[in-house]
Amino acid sequence: MKTQAPKAKQLIILSGKGGTGKTSISAAFAHLSASDHLPAQAVIVDADVDAANLGLVLKPEIGPANDFWGSSLAVIDSDLCINCLACSPVCRYDAIFPDPQIADVQWIDPIACDGCAACVYACPVNAISMVKQQEGNWFHSKTAFGPLFHAELFPGKENSGKLVTLIRQQARLYAEDTRANLIIIDGPPGIGCPVISACAGTDFGLIITEPSLAGLHDLKRVLGTLRHFHIPSVVCINKADIYPEGARAIREFAKAENIELIGEIPYDENLPKSMINGDPITVSFPDSPAALAVRELWQKVLRLLDVQEDLA
Ligand code: SF4
Ligand code: SF4
Repeated sequence: MKTQAPKAKQLIILSGKGGTGKTSISAAFAHLSASDHLPAQAVIVDADVDAANLGLVLKPEIGPANDFWGSSLAVIDSDLCINCLACSPVCRYDAIFPDPQIADVQWIDPIACDGCAACVYACPVNAISMVKQQEGNWFHSKTAFGPLFHAELFPGKENSGKLVTLIRQQARLYAEDTRANLIIIDGPPGIGCPVISACAGTDFGLIITEPSLAGLHDLKRVLGTLRHFHIPSVVCINKADIYPEGARAIREFAKAENIELIGEIPYDENLPKSMINGDPITVSFPDSPAALAVRELWQKVLRLLDVQEDLA
């Protein structure tokens, strides 16, 4: 009889902004998890639901679209509305107007409505109801390197944090079912709501930064977010040799903050070339300096994560 598999470890890869190489490194990790003789069997998550781009490198066979239902918005049933105007004064968002198409009926602007439901209680004839909105889709796709969970938030929608939480849950359930022992999460840029949803409950954070003042600033902000959630974290400098002073400042910061500088990836023109090819650098240019540094980084991260092979 099979024993219960240990919970998959969750690795979050973050950077304070886009363009640091975070997605290139996530893609290479996905490839290494599938190809190295290592005890990792990974499920991959692209948690940048506003602008998912991990798929550009992993080239998934896209799975069926699943609806993502976000918040509820108020809707007026024009057949029931008696135009008493009791609703508009209670709306703090100025979302209620005369219907532009039907005379003597009110209408709610879905862009302005905040979903507070105050108008529902104000209406004497129950003409207003709260209706769930589809705000995006999520997908369980197949890649050559393992399953990929990703999503798209529709333009103008704001529930990105909730959508990130949803795809993380789906990835975790899938990992449980398949006894996968690692979840690699390519996090969103910044430190906002989707980043918080992508970080919460993870086991380990890898921060990718660049050797610049802006990189150091972003590193501090991301580190603050990870520490808020008590997530052990390490830092890696990408393009470490392009600005020695910037790299030195990051090394000094890491030392002062007692955060391990786990890797330094040299500038390597093969990295952007591999993105153009639509392949992880460890596939396109496996012997290039950046690929070798990423491979070393992966081995160190696995050791720190203490990923255990499921031998049951
Ligand atoms: S739900 Fe709130 S925000 Fe939306 S229309 Fe009603 S009162 Fe205004
Ligand atoms: S309160 Fe109800 S009946 Fe009155 S205007 Fe608003 S929607 Fe129409």
